[in-house]
Amino acid sequence: MAIVGSGPAGFYTAYRVMSKVPSTKVDMFEALPVPYGLVRFGVAPDHPEVKKCQKKFEEVGMYLNFTFIGNVSIGNAGGHFGGCTIPLASMMNHYDAIVFAYGASEDKQLGIPGESELQGIYAAREFVGWYNGLPEYADLAPDLTQGEEAVIIGQGNVALDVARMLLEDVDVLRKTDITEAALETLLKSRIKRVHVVGRRGPMQVAFTIKEVRELMKLRGVAFHDVDMSLIPNQISKLPRAPKRLMEMMVKGSVTQLDEAAKSWSLDFCLSPTEFLGRPDGKIRSTVFERTSLASRYDPSSSVVGTGKKVTIPSSIAFRSIGYKSVALPGFDEAGISFDERKGVINNDGTGRVLGVRDNENTERLRRLPGLYCAGWVKRGPTGVIASTMEDAFSTANAIISDWYTGAPFLQGESSSGWEALRAGVEHGKCRVIQWDDWQKIDRAERERGLPLGKQREKFTSITEMIAAAEN
Ligand code: FAD
Ligand code: NAP
Repeated sequence: MAIVGSGPAGFYTAYRVMSKVPSTKVDMFEALPVPYGLVRFGVAPDHPEVKKCQKKFEEVGMYLNFTFIGNVSIGNAGGHFGGCTIPLASMMNHYDAIVFAYGASEDKQLGIPGESELQGIYAAREFVGWYNGLPEYADLAPDLTQGEEAVIIGQGNVALDVARMLLEDVDVLRKTDITEAALETLLKSRIKRVHVVGRRGPMQVAFTIKEVRELMKLRGVAFHDVDMSLIPNQISKLPRAPKRLMEMMVKGSVTQLDEAAKSWSLDFCLSPTEFLGRPDGKIRSTVFERTSLASRYDPSSSVVGTGKKVTIPSSIAFRSIGYKSVALPGFDEAGISFDERKGVINNDGTGRVLGVRDNENTERLRRLPGLYCAGWVKRGPTGVIASTMEDAFSTANAIISDWYTGAPFLQGESSSGWEALRAGVEHGKCRVIQWDDWQKIDRAERERGLPLGKQREKFTSITEMIAAAEN
């Protein structure tokens, strides 16, 4: 079996299938030289406890029948990382099954004026990748010195991660695995006021209680009062999760505004319409249209624009409105159906990939034997690691059931997997990173972290990663 992607979805699928069908051989392909996907490049550095799942992944990495093939992307989607590429068609020729678990490598755009022209507007994905050492964004150098107000568009947990990074005491971050370059930039930051802006209301936010509580407790950081007209009158009668969230928003921060060095707010019912710039091409402000909720306290309420404009000064702006998966090159040829709107591989709900229609007269998508998907590329870009694990297990169960019931799998030339593909890849002078190479990179990063009092100091370029593997 081949797995494309080494994030939680890939590892949990491998773990489950290998536990239940012990003879399974798994080759896991990863576009980057290092494993773990968003656990390494997404999860905030001050949340080390979340990364504990890596222990289980390390265990899988050591299984005898498991081969990690890093710095190799499938179908070219990861080509910009500078690694090697294997076309999907070649892979399909040498495996019984392929699991697509390659996550969401792009982000959603607002599509409003100023977004792509002005300097100082970042996707949360870029900013998060930058402070977490993702090679693609090592040179992002976000400018936090242009003024004091930052605007974050979107009210999910990623938006709160970005807000926390901007507001947190740099000395707290210093002990985490945030990159030294990010620390230096944050140290120079002039940002004092962060707006986390949603197009809907408090009852419709996407973030969760633990993450908002953390912000409320930050030392020296105050929270501006929420618009009470949007909070239900009888909070105590709400179900547990919204009840706790509303109580937290009403209670506010530990630090009061008059004693705070920095502050933040949750600004509701504002839908972005335009970014305005200064003569030097840098962002100056963000314009929003005030919205009105169809049903204030209904978590799924829609909004309509009121026509009223609100402008918030912005020396920097982040759009944090979600990640996006894209189809891999080669999907069309393989007949794999990708839902561009939802950004997911069409599948039967348990991860069996669906293909193009049988013929023009039928609406039904055909199942493609031996092809599966898991994680964000199966379900869309939402869900924490625990839900991604559940999702990967459901895909694994489908594979296991298909195997034991004799369902058809891929019918290529051979089932010899990496053995058959390896020569072609290495002929192209690619430096493939295997598990023991990754262990060397891991050790080198930990050693670099020691004198800094950090768990690790990440390498932020592919060249450095490969050099550490060869050392
Ligand atoms: P990913 O983790 O994205 O893994 C996909 C992998 O596939 C990547 O390594 C990628 O490089 C690789 N890949 C991509 N294209 C190719 C290709 N063509 N060939 C080979 N490999 C490829 N959840 C929590 O529980 N707690 C948190 O604190 C938390 N924080 C988060 C913070 C951020 C900023 C984000 C975005 C998410 C966070 N999550 C958190 C959610 C969690 O990270 C996801 O649920 C989970 O990582 C999704 O797993 P995945 O395997 O589907 O995708
Ligand atoms: P998300 O939870 O889907 O939140 C996206 C936010 O963007 C929502 O508030 C959404 O508002 C808003 N939005 C979308 N399109 C918009 C538009 N065009 N204009 C204005 N606002 C728009 O996504 P996320 O924050 O990227 O998080 C992804 C997943 O990772 C989530 O499941 C999250 O819980 C998880 N995660 C977890 C942690 C943690 O556990 N600590 C940390 C980070 C991420 P609407 O609701 O109105 O669409």
